[in-house]
Amino acid sequence: MIDLHLHLDGSMSEQDFLYLAKKDGVSLGEDFPNNIYVPANCPSLEVYLERFTLPGILLQSKENLAHVTSSLVRRLYKMGYIYAEIRFAPLLHTNKGMSQMDAALAALEGLNSALKECPEFEANLILCCMRHAPKEVNLETIEVANKLKGTRVVAVDLAGAEALHPSSYYKEIFDLAKKYKLNITIHAGEATGSDEIMMALDNGAMRIGHGVHLNVNSKDGDRAKEAKVCFEFCPTSNLQTKSLKSYKDVPIREFMNKGIALTINSDNMTVSNTDVYQEFSHLIQTFNLTKEEVYSFLINSINYSFTSLETKKLLKERLDKKFNNFYSRVSV
Ligand SMILES: [Zn+2]
Repeated sequence: MIDLHLHLDGSMSEQDFLYLAKKDGVSLGEDFPNNIYVPANCPSLEVYLERFTLPGILLQSKENLAHVTSSLVRRLYKMGYIYAEIRFAPLLHTNKGMSQMDAALAALEGLNSALKECPEFEANLILCCMRHAPKEVNLETIEVANKLKGTRVVAVDLAGAEALHPSSYYKEIFDLAKKYKLNITIHAGEATGSDEIMMALDNGAMRIGHGVHLNVNSKDGDRAKEAKVCFEFCPTSNLQTKSLKSYKDVPIREFMNKGIALTINSDNMTVSNTDVYQEFSHLIQTFNLTKEEVYSFLINSINYSFTSLETKKLLKERLDKKFNNFYSRVSV
């Protein structure tokens, strides 16, 4: 019911694909809709990443980006979510003439228009830099996020294949983000190890996307704890990309015992064919999480969200109203 790590392009509905493909004359392929979900036993990260090809083709106009953002907001609201931070990389949507600013404004427009129909639901946007992109292009993403400060663009991220370049390679980009006092979350320690998480901290990360390969019981774990960063776990996605072998390898108890804050998220609702309800269910079954522990993860999500203190207070009230229902749904 709260998702802090949710990619827009990995969370398009089947209806979104059908609508946009028909409108733009794009073929969805013979195996649609199977080709938008990862197979039950996803063989590799490459197969996982292939699922982003069709969204990349379809999301090259302002209209389409606004459409899918609205659609996602409405779906989350109907599913009983109270808050979400939706992320996407504007630089992936510039193949047909949109600027990064156009892309960000289109997603904002879709978000704002859908939120008008969704009382007691809040959502914000995070703009992702990409590891494969040239430095100037990533710097532009930071500039766009800075220009949109005060809107529902609330943070920047670094996403993409970690093995390509270490986080230290992006120092100049995050120095600019720090100069602008932007909120920063960075994908780190998903495909690689603890060093990458330390570099993300050097780059000013306040939250770490995934981070499951942190060496908790070492000086790295001490540093993560002292830095009071929060980790955005996305368990099913980690199993599919072969970052972890099974749910019992999610280092949830290690992080909790160390006193490091973590949250439970879905990463990609369509590609991973999951949602926050399913992620909690898997972890409750695997680790016998108590009701109090489940509540504490949702409180972490609120405390570490990139939103105002006033909104956090509202979210806590809404969580308290909905928590018993949520818990009975995920704990069966
Ligand atoms: Zn992610």
